[in-house]
Amino acid sequence: MSAAVGYSQIPVMRPQLPTTADLVPFLQEIDQNRYYSNHGPLYRRFARELDQSANFPVSSSILVGNATQGLTSVLRVRGLAGRPYCALPAWSFVASAAAVVEAGMQPYFVDVEEDTWAYSPLALRDMPLDKLAAVMVVAPFGQSVPLQEWDEWSSLTGIPVIIDAAAGFDFVVQELEAYPNLTTVVSLHATKTLSSGEGGWLIDFNKDVLRNALADGNFGYLDGAIGQTFGHNYKMSEYHAAVGLASLQSWDMTRRRFAERFNKMVEALEPLPLSVFPNPSKPFFISSTFHITTEMPADFLASELLKRGVLTRQWWGEGIHRLKAYAHFPRGDLSMTNKISPYILGLPFSVDMTDGEIERVRDAIAEAFYVHAMT
Ligand SMILES: *Cc1c(COP(=O)(O)O)cnc(C)c1O
Repeated sequence: MSAAVGYSQIPVMRPQLPTTADLVPFLQEIDQNRYYSNHGPLYRRFARELDQSANFPVSSSILVGNATQGLTSVLRVRGLAGRPYCALPAWSFVASAAAVVEAGMQPYFVDVEEDTWAYSPLALRDMPLDKLAAVMVVAPFGQSVPLQEWDEWSSLTGIPVIIDAAAGFDFVVQELEAYPNLTTVVSLHATKTLSSGEGGWLIDFNKDVLRNALADGNFGYLDGAIGQTFGHNYKMSEYHAAVGLASLQSWDMTRRRFAERFNKMVEALEPLPLSVFPNPSKPFFISSTFHITTEMPADFLASELLKRGVLTRQWWGEGIHRLKAYAHFPRGDLSMTNKISPYILGLPFSVDMTDGEIERVRDAIAEAFYVHAMT
């Protein structure tokens, strides 16, 4: 098979944020307000509308520059002093572990389950709990995690639980309730489903936690006074809030388009011997990524697809624990992560992928299976 001469390449992701025309009314408001950052009117409106979209009580969240900053802030605010570790799944994006290190803790990598790609409190049964400053639970590619169970576990152990639902806007809006022991962070990055370009949505139903997280991301300003606590600059600007507000306006349509294209992909791939994540036969939440697992190593499949103009990505590589910068951190048994991750590949996916592109992806995978069987 020769290289895909004459074909355009199909990108692995093609985000679509609000257009210039969608943004104009919001930008004009900024012109009027002459307020450009520092928790201005658009910031406050965006936070309020997000809370409303999820049916949260008023003022249940703050907005930050990105999800990594939100995770870092809340780990600083809620993490138990004098304890070294934050448990987190090895199967996640590197940002989860980066936030742990930035908050002054050591990542302790834990394994995930084969079907959910996440872990439950059971996975921590052999951990030295008295060494845990916090636990981070990752909602993999926006799919659900047992929130109620984690809330109860946190209440029982006194250990804070932070949900990294970076790709999970849909999940959070539909499933998160006012759990008293959980903090949840959603990414509003351009590659996620609801976006402000860059941004993070930090949700907590405890007013003190929110107040302290806000101070952590605003130079330590607490109740109008500076210097009572350390602080950083994690603020979301009015311009990012404008993009977020415009995105929120068309959320229902974005959601429908993702779901419709997801179903189309599933239908096209149906004849092939592969499994799709999220599992389409179970309730799932929309995601901006589309994953398959096959018997072919992901790097083999990726190179075969590349020859056919289909770009792919191993979004989480083979786990954070394998990355050089994280190789020295402690971990439990990671046999499931090590077993499944080399076979997982992210396919091209976007709200406006054409039927023709989906067919090309399917045909390229079918050819890769053929090549694999021949070698
Ligand atoms: C995207 C992502 C992040 C980082 O979010 P940012 O807003 O880009 O900082 C963190 N964790 C997971 C699981 C992600 O998918």
